[in-house]
Amino acid sequence: LFVVFEGGDGAGKSTQAARLAEALSATGREVVRTREPGGTEIGEKLRALVLDHGHGTVDARTEALMFAAARAAHVEQLVLPAIAAGQIVVCDRYVDSSVAYQGVGRGLGVDDVLMINRWATQALRPDLTVLLDVDAAAGRRRRTAGEAAEDRLESEPDDFHASIRDALLALADAEPERYLVLDADRGIDDLAEQILTRVQALLGG
Ligand code: C5P
Repeated sequence: LFVVFEGGDGAGKSTQAARLAEALSATGREVVRTREPGGTEIGEKLRALVLDHGHGTVDARTEALMFAAARAAHVEQLVLPAIAAGQIVVCDRYVDSSVAYQGVGRGLGVDDVLMINRWATQALRPDLTVLLDVDAAAGRRRRTAGEAAEDRLESEPDDFHASIRDALLALADAEPERYLVLDADRGIDDLAEQILTRVQALLGG
């Protein structure tokens, strides 16, 4: 089973991914918790290149290909072998992030970004994508209240974050059966419980 967490910066993806992984492990399931981009040596290097040197120093197409390259390595080296071994993969971010950030945020277009990512991922799709939906103002509060993360797009204006949010919601709308959309402002325990219930349903109870 492949479960992905998506949402804007400050939505609480890492917290909920960790909670889900813990809860599933506690029931005896084997869980691999990973993140995008990264999770492999080459992926972490690409992550550092694309994030640590600041957005804006890399042109949009190069950035999109670097994320896609990191994703290709992640899928081939980590996600597919784990799924084949019967493990549950819980991943922060996947193709939807690129559609939102590179396709919409950087203006490359949704279709082209989907196309390079379909190829990069061998067309692997999540069984479930949990979208932690956060509006721009709440996102800003959450980002500034949370841990300082220099690699995040904190300095982008609210309308950038709003366009990312709209892009993610549109993807969820197009495929409602594959998404669980939750208001990120709900309590951490409440969110964790709803996510676990949905995943357990997918696992057959
Ligand atoms: O939340 P995380 O640490 O994964 O995000 C790192 C940064 O990379 C965030 O600012 C996010 O907006 C950005 N990002 C991006 N394009 C992606 C994935 C993440 O610009 N495809």
